[in-house]
Formats: sequence, structure tokens, C-alpha cells
Amino acid sequence: MKIIKLETFTKPYVSFVKITVEDGATGFGQMSTYHADITAQIFHKQVAPWVLGKEYFNFDDLEDFIFEREHKFPGSYLLRAIAGLDTALWDLKGKIENKPVVSLIGGSPGKLRIYGSSMKRDIKPFDEAERFKKLHNEKGVNAFKFRVGSECGRGKDEWEGRTEDIVRTINQSFDKNIIKMVDANSCYEPHQAIEIGKLLEDNNVTHFEEPCPYWKPDQTRIVTDALKIDVTGGEQDCDLRIWKDMVKRRIVNIFQPDVMYMGGLTKALKAASIIKEGGFICTPHTANLSLVTICTMHFLKAIENAGPYLEFSIEGEDYYPWQQNLFLNDPYFIDDGKVEIKDIPGWGVEINPDWLNNSDYKVSRIDD
Ligand SMILES: [Mg+2]
Repeated sequence: MKIIKLETFTKPYVSFVKITVEDGATGFGQMSTYHADITAQIFHKQVAPWVLGKEYFNFDDLEDFIFEREHKFPGSYLLRAIAGLDTALWDLKGKIENKPVVSLIGGSPGKLRIYGSSMKRDIKPFDEAERFKKLHNEKGVNAFKFRVGSECGRGKDEWEGRTEDIVRTINQSFDKNIIKMVDANSCYEPHQAIEIGKLLEDNNVTHFEEPCPYWKPDQTRIVTDALKIDVTGGEQDCDLRIWKDMVKRRIVNIFQPDVMYMGGLTKALKAASIIKEGGFICTPHTANLSLVTICTMHFLKAIENAGPYLEFSIEGEDYYPWQQNLFLNDPYFIDDGKVEIKDIPGWGVEINPDWLNNSDYKVSRIDD
């Protein structure tokens, strides 16, 4: 069955992809968020021409072929665009075979525990504790991640004393049954990260994410070796050579590929298998409530070396207004600290037709 049409529906932060094959069957996917308008241009210029007229079913080979044709462009933008194709192909395959994606890759639908992931650094420690308490009391969430240091901050805190304050405040606000995690987003030199790591150990934090600049794995490794708690990372890395190297050198204790940054589910599954062969667990990165978290739910529920919970952004309209109203029927409903993958073919979501109608539309088709 040949691919005959590739449509994109784009706003500045989000771009959905619709794929159509010869018999009229369709699938929806999404490119990676942020600068999605630029990614959509790449999709039509550097992805669509290599895909139109090709058979749909061998994703792996098809995506390798794009990469070979565009081998001078091995970077993030091409992969962000390929993620749109790949996730649309998986949705199409699920709809053709009448199965949710999770069932196509060895898992089954059902519930998945989440951890509430804060994206805010401009929030005061007391206010962060209050919103975690609300989520715990109202939705049963029992694991949380908050931010320390400043993003790629060269060792500087968001404001003086914030990191020490928030680590102690969160620990004092919850008992040991509530899992506490932090993310430094590439802030520290190793000696600083180790000092912060001891503070985390003393305050029942179990997961220290991206302590050092992610592009300096030797620094991260020093921190991993020095601390008793789990050091984690990998969200930015999208090259399988780097994945193999990071796992082989045991750079962190828990690895966190991002389905969309990787170039889609097909490649994320390859990263998960490299991580598994190294004997590690995989707790994927997913930082907003566009399609990336849906795809990650299916991914996490299927892999054998899955970590214990799904990252789940707790930010709403005030912080990420662009992620509002993307889907019908609230696929992110939380009950008892869990989300649910329903037994619906493909990704199991319906993209809001109003959102699609108000986006920038572009099409590449076989006869163009
Ligand atoms: Mg992170």
C-alpha cells in the first residue's frame, strides 16, 4: 500500500501530520514541539519527497532511506520532522490492524502510573509544595519532579538559595512514600553537582536529572560514580551512536530518551533496546501534553525495561497555553495517580477539528 499524501497542520509550537495511503486509510502523527513551523518546512522539503509513492509498512527501512538521502543533515530538525512521519505511520498501522499502538509493539492497553513533572523554575518553594499537595490530594499523584539550579545555568541558581530551600521544603512537606525527583537541566560543574547531590541524599530525593551539561558526559559520569542516588539523563540525545556510547560507559543510572527528539517511536524502541542490553531501565522524557506524552504512554507500557512511572507535565494554560484544546475527550484524565491507554486503534486520540481548521495547512502529494 503506497503513501500518496502527506498533510501538515501547523501552529508555531505544534504541527500535526496526516498520512494517506492508496486505499484512503489515514493516520495522524505529530512533529516535535517548539519551532514547529520551521520543522514543517523541513518535513515538506526533506522528508515528504523521499516517502511519497513508497510502501508504508517497513517504517524502519523507509526512515533509514530518508536519512541516507539527507545524510548531510544528521541533526535534530530532520529527526523532529521524521517524528511526524513515524508517529503518523504507527497510527495508520494501528488503524489498519485495528489495534492500539501499544499492542503492535508487545504491550497492552491499561493504566500507567505518572509522576507529576514541574516545568517551572520561577515558582517559589512553598508554592511548588502546595501544588504538589493539591495533585496528591485530588488526583492521587504520589511522585513528583521539581527544578533545581538554572537551565544550562553555568552553576548559577535561579535566585540565590532557591535550590537548598526547595529541596528542604519539598522534603518537609511529604513523607517518604512520596517519590521526590529533581532536574538540574545541565546546570552544574561536577564538584557543585556532587555537593547538591549530597543535599538531595539527605532530603530523600531519589533521582538527580541532567546534573552537568549533557554534552559533557565525562562530567556526568563523575557525578554518577560519586553519588548513591540515581543520576539520570539522555533526553536531548538523538543519535544511536551516542546512545550506545552512553550505555557502554554507564554515564547515568537511568536513561531518558524522548520519542519525538529521537525521530519517532521506531528509533525510541531501538534506544530502549540498547538501554536494556546495558542492563538499565528506561524512563522516557516527555515534557508537555501534546501527542508526545500519548506516544510515550504506548512506548513505556510496551518496553520490558520500563521505569516505574510516566513523566507527566503538571503545567496548564498559564504556562503552556499552546497545548490547550489539542484533543477531544481528554486523553490525559488522571485517576488515582494514573492515566489510561484505552483499547482504541492507533494512538487512540482524536485531534480537535477546530484546532486543525485554524492551523496553517500544507500538502505534499504523489502527483505534485
Ligand atoms: Mg529533564
